[in-house]
Amino acid sequence: MSAESGSAICACCGEIVLDFNRFALNPLKESKDYTLITDALLRNVKALLKDTDNRPIQLPLHPERTGLALLTGLALQWRYYPHADSEAEVPAGIDEDSETIVFCKKCRGELVRGKLPARALANNLVFAPVPPELKHLSVAERQTVAIARLSIFIMNLEQYDKVSKIPSNANLMPLDVSTCSGRR
Ligand SMILES: [Zn+2]
Repeated sequence: MSAESGSAICACCGEIVLDFNRFALNPLKESKDYTLITDALLRNVKALLKDTDNRPIQLPLHPERTGLALLTGLALQWRYYPHADSEAEVPAGIDEDSETIVFCKKCRGELVRGKLPARALANNLVFAPVPPELKHLSVAERQTVAIARLSIFIMNLEQYDKVSKIPSNANLMPLDVSTCSGRR
């Protein structure tokens, strides 16, 4: 296990994180920069992050590589689009060349304890790819065709010394797109 400076993307939750560790998956590629993932952690990762609902999980570009083969069938963030208009994905939580995987501190802690992290992609948070026809829509157009709308209310508590803002609640409301578009 090694700690790096800068930011990275957690392979478990897909979030950009500052506090993370990178593990080698292939013993032949272990180095002073990152040590081999432990058997216990790998066992929990394989058990907890398994895709059990046949969701559209990302797949490795090089499944034949020994270290990457350990991750077969898991819901992980392999790549992402750096911008909404990007045409090509870039590597994310897993570096296929060095055969390493990144976990944020929070996810790693939960996985070590044998718990599925709340924000893990495997916790029913895998999204289907955005169809090409929808990739270049404006914010307003996306809101119109969204199948659900997320609303978050933040309460401002400036009068208190130690707490300036707290999130109150978040609501996810399904929308009837056919009604919005005038078709029934
Ligand atoms: Zn994470």
